[in-house]
Amino acid sequence: MDSPFSMKSPTRSDQELMRKSASPRELSQNLAWNRREFLRTAAGVTLGASISPAGSVFRAPAFPKDKKVVVITFGGGARDQETFAPEGQENIPHLMRELIPQASFFTQVVNKGILGHYVATASLATGVYETFNNFAATPPESPTVFEYFRKDLKRPASDAWVVAPSNGFNRIGESSHRLYGPGLGARVILPKHLLTAATSGEKDYEHLLRDNYETPLYAPELSGNNFEMKQLAELLQLSMGEFKNHALTLSSPDELSIYIARQLMRQVAPSLLWITLHDIDIAHAGAYSLYVDGIRRTDRLCAEIWKTIESEPEYAGKTSLFILPDFGRDSDEDSGGNGFQHHRTGDALSRTTWMMALGPGIRQNVVYDRAMQSTDLVPTIGAKMGFSPILCQGQPIQEIL
Ligand SMILES: [Zn+2]
Repeated sequence: MDSPFSMKSPTRSDQELMRKSASPRELSQNLAWNRREFLRTAAGVTLGASISPAGSVFRAPAFPKDKKVVVITFGGGARDQETFAPEGQENIPHLMRELIPQASFFTQVVNKGILGHYVATASLATGVYETFNNFAATPPESPTVFEYFRKDLKRPASDAWVVAPSNGFNRIGESSHRLYGPGLGARVILPKHLLTAATSGEKDYEHLLRDNYETPLYAPELSGNNFEMKQLAELLQLSMGEFKNHALTLSSPDELSIYIARQLMRQVAPSLLWITLHDIDIAHAGAYSLYVDGIRRTDRLCAEIWKTIESEPEYAGKTSLFILPDFGRDSDEDSGGNGFQHHRTGDALSRTTWMMALGPGIRQNVVYDRAMQSTDLVPTIGAKMGFSPILCQGQPIQEIL
């Protein structure tokens, strides 16, 4: 067999053949190779070593002491044909031209868990594949990254925050684990809940308030550590009027989330900030153009957060940024799948996503295609910030430590 390094991007009929005969593991590997080739030819990125052992010659300068981590996940990943493949790259100009050249990029992040957004995002945040009902207002069972961070490093509640895309995420900041849990979690901001409270159903804001795209009628009870409008307005030094007026200028729920996240970075500057976006998942409604709009917006908003990191003195030069989808979407070929619209089949395409990492001590402009798992994020953040996620299943990503 040819070395993977000489592999050309396969044609569509090659891909179909491959899908028919390959195991899920081979399909994931093929996806990762294709992704790497797309990036290599478009952005001229260096190929990373398949595995770069800890302490290798590539070890970068030490991370500064007062380090911070920002994580952006998005619910409802996108397929390569709308993103990294040649025909999709026009949808992600900021990732391609601004972020990837500064990032270590991992082309094969496999999610072996449940493909529902809340449970999958909770799994990203615990480093354990959580198994609870995706549509239930329940906390994660394993400790979250926020609890490890706060307990091990003795950090106050104000130092770990989540900006979550829908009311269904309101318990994500704190697990039910008996060794962690109550009082040790992150504060969770639910921008749509705040806007609802601020506007009490005024019609002008409806475009920002749609809560989730899969089960529009699901309306979880709100309880837990989420923030109320008045507290938030004080904290972010925003008046209710300002908040409403600004919201009116925004075109989507994710714009609202990023607006709040940036205010939070300026006013509170938490060391650990987790932002989950969700606009791409409008794909469930079946409108391809809205799905592509969501991809383009997500691309721009990710770059805005990186710009904020680079320009805010509290973050510049000491912050790692991790960007990753929770999982992918179905392929067009599978029976039972619906292409871009859903993520139901659990095939390799819907499970094989990617991650990029940027920041001090992280190599720039390199691509790694070895298989890693969604659960590797938490131990990597732990190794970066100096805490021990002892109950997580994943492994730290040595290439970026
Ligand atoms: Zn979805």
